[in-house]
Amino acid sequence: MTKTGIIGGGLGGLAAACTLAARGHDVVLFEKNDWLGGKAAVLEEGGFRFDMGPTILTMPRVLERIFAEAGRDLHAELDLRRLDPQWRCFYDDKTVLDLRDDPSHAAEAIGRLSPGDRAGFERFMEVAKRLSDVSDRFFFWKSVEDLRDTMDLKGSMNLSTLSDVMALRMHRTVAGQIKRDVKDKRVAQMLEHFIQYVGSSPLASPAVLCGIAQMQQGEGVWYPMGGTRAVPLALTRLAEALGVEIRTGAGVRRIEVTKGRARAVITDAGERVACDHVVSNMDSVRTYRELVGGAEGRAFDRTRKREAACSGVVLYLGLDRAYEHLAHHNFVFSRDPEEEFGAIYDHGEPAPDPTAYIAAPARTEPGVAPEGGEALYVLVHTPYLRPGHDWKQMLPGYREVILDKLRRSAGMEDIDARIVVERSLTPQDIHERYNVLDGAIYGLASHGKVLGAFKPGNRSRQVEGLYLAGGSAHPGPGMPMALMSGWIAADTLDRDAGGAREARDDAGGARRQQAGADVAAE
Ligand SMILES: Cc1cc2nc3c(=O)[nH]c(=O)nc-3n(C[C@H](O)[C@H](O)[C@H](O)COP(=O)(O)OP(=O)(O)OC[C@H]3O[C@@H](n4cnc5c(N)ncnc54)[C@H](O)[C@@H]3O)c2cc1C
Repeated sequence: MTKTGIIGGGLGGLAAACTLAARGHDVVLFEKNDWLGGKAAVLEEGGFRFDMGPTILTMPRVLERIFAEAGRDLHAELDLRRLDPQWRCFYDDKTVLDLRDDPSHAAEAIGRLSPGDRAGFERFMEVAKRLSDVSDRFFFWKSVEDLRDTMDLKGSMNLSTLSDVMALRMHRTVAGQIKRDVKDKRVAQMLEHFIQYVGSSPLASPAVLCGIAQMQQGEGVWYPMGGTRAVPLALTRLAEALGVEIRTGAGVRRIEVTKGRARAVITDAGERVACDHVVSNMDSVRTYRELVGGAEGRAFDRTRKREAACSGVVLYLGLDRAYEHLAHHNFVFSRDPEEEFGAIYDHGEPAPDPTAYIAAPARTEPGVAPEGGEALYVLVHTPYLRPGHDWKQMLPGYREVILDKLRRSAGMEDIDARIVVERSLTPQDIHERYNVLDGAIYGLASHGKVLGAFKPGNRSRQVEGLYLAGGSAHPGPGMPMALMSGWIAADTLDRDAGGAREARDDAGGARRQQAGADVAAE
């Protein structure tokens, strides 16, 4: 049995821990904070409960696969509800458009708003489905760092692979693809926002990422009762049942590397814990710069220029009266997407008239607020931290910009009078709480028509025995991708360690039975 040290207990770290433990590895997980789940944290105050980070859960099949590693049924662990509409969209011209769960209903609603775009939306969704399918076959569930890793271009190039390569539309951006298919600016603005799941500009991201639209429209938007926080809680229970040693309040300050191989982790308290393998769930760039350093760290830095994805400001507003016209997930769109994306991604400044995303989870789970109230979560994307950005100074003014947007464009004129609890999260807070790159919410930006989708691979090319898991590693950010990243890191490690199948059949099988027994006893 090999011992693996995992640095970080975010979704990627927890997914890796559960997968490795289910396959019989000895796992110790170090988390610097006193909670597990990383950005999937919770805030409770005055009878209100807010998910602090992710609120939209898509692709539950990724979680299903992680639970299945331990012989468990996700749906016995989490009460997942499929939401319809997926999003309610409020526009500057007061139009309201629901993105319905059923694609044919979504197309009908779009056709009512802009008759010429019904067919265009259907065409766009066909492209998205093809791209999602190509991603599933070539990009997901394995460690990938560049084009070479996706398909064996020399060995197995045939007509079908060639057609897959063509489908990737490497000459086009997300915005370019959308513009070809739909004409109405409001419909285009909605479709462009799928790329906000990876905190990047639709004007600079590769068209292959249009596949995200299918991952949501085709597979649904889900709400775990108890909030997204229920996801790391369920994973923590699983990790504990599988025997993972969990140490919270235990930061790691260095990975000991000798002769190009990871040998141990050194904690902030100075303890050396010898490991056969290390999985880092800390931001990938900072892992190499701060935990690895030396020649290997510099070698990683030379591979490619990496830029952080966007950051954001979140307002958590406990209201004494609900806004019944809101759906569970809402977007209040900016007046001009080019002005908005230009400010955030080109000029590095908060947008003057931003898009606000609002979660009103009381629509699905009334218990998140006192009776009749609303636990409102308002997220506005901002640039990643630039020199001179002091959010202690900037927050009061930007809070006013955000609330003004809600008053003007989302029918919430009296919002100030309804607020009874208020907290916030700024790019600086995100930076400090989660050790990310420049306050990024979604890891690394996906900019560049050819290489934009590629992130650092899960198996380190610089340090033997080091694996990366989380939103800043392959396949990228967001709940499903960070979880998949953890699974890939674990699966790659397990295969590299050799005898994966035996481990799974012997120790893993025994552990799975024990885990099942533990849960049955709970
Ligand atoms: C405001 C906000 C809204 C979001 N909305 C959505 C959404 O609606 N849908 C969606 O799918 N995604 C959303 N996301 C993105 C999603 O939350 C992330 O992509 C995902 O949770 C990242 O998981 P992770 O495992 O990469 O890392 P993290 O959650 O960042 O976890 C990393 C963990 O490592 C720990 N750590 C770091 N360094 C060390 C160290 N040296 N030693 C020990 N521990 C360390 C950190 O404390 C942290 O707990 C949102 C994120 C935010 C912040």
